[in-house]
Amino acid sequence: MNCHVCGEELKMDSGRCPVCGFAVLVQLEQNKELDKPFQQTVVRYRRERQKDHEVGFFTWTWKREGPDHFANDRQPHPLARCGQLEDGQIHWHKEEIISSGEEPLMLSYFIRELTDPGDETGVQEKTGTIFFEGTWAGNVQVGLSLDQEAFVHFHVKDEDHEIISPPVNVLS
Ligand SMILES: [Zn+2]
Repeated sequence: MNCHVCGEELKMDSGRCPVCGFAVLVQLEQNKELDKPFQQTVVRYRRERQKDHEVGFFTWTWKREGPDHFANDRQPHPLARCGQLEDGQIHWHKEEIISSGEEPLMLSYFIRELTDPGDETGVQEKTGTIFFEGTWAGNVQVGLSLDQEAFVHFHVKDEDHEIISPPVNVLS
């Protein structure tokens, strides 16, 4: 079976999920629909466990390092800590990014757990990529939201359209 909070595959003899620490209920059948109180427990645990995880995205700039050589330089743009997100509200990044007009739009994101505000020592970072269909040229805004199951979603918008990403599990 898989952890109900983070999706990690679990061995039947484990007492807690090795990734997120959620107590494993071995009696639970794999495909049995979760009852509502248990589902609420899962969501509460996920929300609590991920509250100090910061989510953001990267942009790249190209620098010349020689006559024929360019290196890309990655800049992180933190969007929010999960604990700052309120249900159903989109947290838009204050700066717009410039899309080169490629399609689809590729958003590289990062998730990192911060222990204390501003303390970046020992931070574990995970990265991923999401593609947004359509043609995106010019200024694009990136946002983040939290759904009712405490999964995060990325949003991108320009003058013509706005798209929301599939759910992203911060803990997995
Ligand atoms: Zn887990």
